[in-house]
Parts: sequence; structure tokens; C-alpha cells
Amino acid sequence: MELRRTRRGWAEPQPSHCPDCQEALGGGRMLVGTAQCSGCGQSHRTHTCTACWYTIYSPHLTDRCELSAFDGRRSTRTLGQGTEDSDV
Ligand SMILES: [Zn+2]
Ligand SMILES: [Zn+2]
Repeated sequence: MELRRTRRGWAEPQPSHCPDCQEALGGGRMLVGTAQCSGCGQSHRTHTCTACWYTIYSPHLTDRCELSAFDGRRSTRTLGQGTEDSDV
């Protein structure tokens, strides 16, 4: 059931440990997502550590990158999962 398609050519770096808090990832300790990038025209795979919420982007973000459909810095609220700014 794991996403292993290395034979097809997307040898995706699947982090085994969080580079930030060193927590072992995998088995539900990591959220995997996709961030659409309008900067480099492709999407970045995201691996988010659920311990410290550090997000690893694959490929790494560059200066050109502009994420448009993630929780990003561009204040897109289109995802609808924003309970952050509802103070009630
Ligand atoms: Zn972490
Ligand atoms: Zn990009």
C-alpha cells in the first residue's frame, strides 16, 4: 500500500526522520500532501512532521517558488481547512 514507484522514475525522497526535531516519521506521524507551485510550474510533494509541523518539500523550494494551494504564505483560504483565524 505504500507509494513506491521508484521503477517508474519518481524516486521520491521519503524522509525517514524529521530534519527539524529528529522524530521518526512514517506510520501516521507524517502528513503527505501536494503543494501546487506556480513559480516553477510543477507541484511539490510535502511531508509534514506531525510532531513539530515542519514541512519538507520535494523538490526543495527555490526562490522562484510560489505555492498557491497549500497553507502557504500567500494567504489563500481556498482550502477551507482554516480554523486558525476563527476566534469565535
Ligand atoms: Zn519534526
Ligand atoms: Zn516550486
